[in-house]
Amino acid sequence: MPSLNEKLHPIYDEVLRRNPGEVEFHQAVHEVLDSLGPVVAKQPDYADGAVIRRLCEPERQIIFRVPWVDDDGRVQINRGFRVEFNSSLGPYKGGLRFHPSVYLGIVKFLGFEQIFKNSLTGLPIGGGKGGSDFDPKGHSDGEIMRFCQSFMTELYRHIGEYTDVPAGDIGVGGREIGYLFGQYKRITNRYESGVLTGKGLTWGGSQVRTEATGYGTVFFTDEMLRTRGSSFDGKTVLVSGSGNVAIYAIQKVEQLGGRVIACSDSGGYVVDEKGIDLDLLREIKEVRRGRISEYAELRGGSAGYVTDGSIWQQACDIALPCATQNELNADDAKALINNGCIAVAEGANMPCTPEAVRLFASAGVAFAPGKAANAGGVATSALEMQQNASRDSWGFEHTEARLADIMRSIHDRCVSTAEEYGLPGNYVAGANISGFTQVADAMLALGV
Ligand code: GLU
Repeated sequence: MPSLNEKLHPIYDEVLRRNPGEVEFHQAVHEVLDSLGPVVAKQPDYADGAVIRRLCEPERQIIFRVPWVDDDGRVQINRGFRVEFNSSLGPYKGGLRFHPSVYLGIVKFLGFEQIFKNSLTGLPIGGGKGGSDFDPKGHSDGEIMRFCQSFMTELYRHIGEYTDVPAGDIGVGGREIGYLFGQYKRITNRYESGVLTGKGLTWGGSQVRTEATGYGTVFFTDEMLRTRGSSFDGKTVLVSGSGNVAIYAIQKVEQLGGRVIACSDSGGYVVDEKGIDLDLLREIKEVRRGRISEYAELRGGSAGYVTDGSIWQQACDIALPCATQNELNADDAKALINNGCIAVAEGANMPCTPEAVRLFASAGVAFAPGKAANAGGVATSALEMQQNASRDSWGFEHTEARLADIMRSIHDRCVSTAEEYGLPGNYVAGANISGFTQVADAMLALGV
């Protein structure tokens, strides 16, 4: 790892000491501090006023037991988390992740990222994240419902439209948000629409929220390509994952004239030289809640299923990692660079390892960090909160146009901030510095 500025190094050491074993959190903090050297050199206030040290310590961390009864009548126990990281710009805002890998270090890394991402949207939302080590895979609908109800039976006392507004993430989609919202309403006797986002369209949800993260990532990449005189038109694209983010990234790439030839899940990846058949993919993932292996079986001819090796070894012009953290490592980056890839944008949170990001930078590959490129999901959540607050509901086109505008302005903020600090084209620095300064200024204004 590159060494940090002398003022920032002790802050990172303190984070390591305070949060032993939380490697993903350490990685996320290091990545941000690494960009802040030029900022503290210009404005020593930020380091001297302990703003960065305060920023690295969550305002509140909640850990709770989630007992639930399975279909055989046995009691199961999981662990629930909500990390309320920073509320200087607005109520804590961020998703819930249900996945067996979830522990405090993952929730803290995601919550930390969320602070800067939410700041970049320019909308009044603070940063938070939550989840559980519950694995939704292989559970009946009834089990999912009982788990969600038990999770909310504890969580409800910590959230509220002016306090903390959760949404979905890996393992939490419209179905889970429905069960969570139902339980919140039941316990509190309040139809408080703004307490959760990602709701269904008939009960307070927003148009485009489902599509927003994937669409937003592609809008951002399109802007980034435009600054280099390029576009998606005629380009070959790899998209990892096959969940909500991946599906709608694929749809938008296809609408912009690109061809997505591969996508994946935790079991392997499919390559389809004719271009991924989105209707078939959606049928498998959204309707049947099935596996990507079924895609190759049903599609036949043009599609192959690969279980060993990495999706990033396929040749492409543009790579959109939309699965999970640290899924694209240095070897993958080298393969992408050797195969002529011109742009990489993170649809997932921190999918590229720090070594991979460094390789892209030195090879001149345009690289968009997740904080900026995948901010469309949470930005549209903030639009859902706006609609809930005004008891209104907007049309699809209007909402999509708002999302496109927000992504364009995040892109422009990254570009101009990077230029201001003498790092033209460095989207990592642009996103981290611009996200940080807005939060830091608010923290200074609000006092210790
Ligand atoms: N989980 C998404 C993210 O990583 C969305 C969060 C939200 O809508 O609050 O940004």
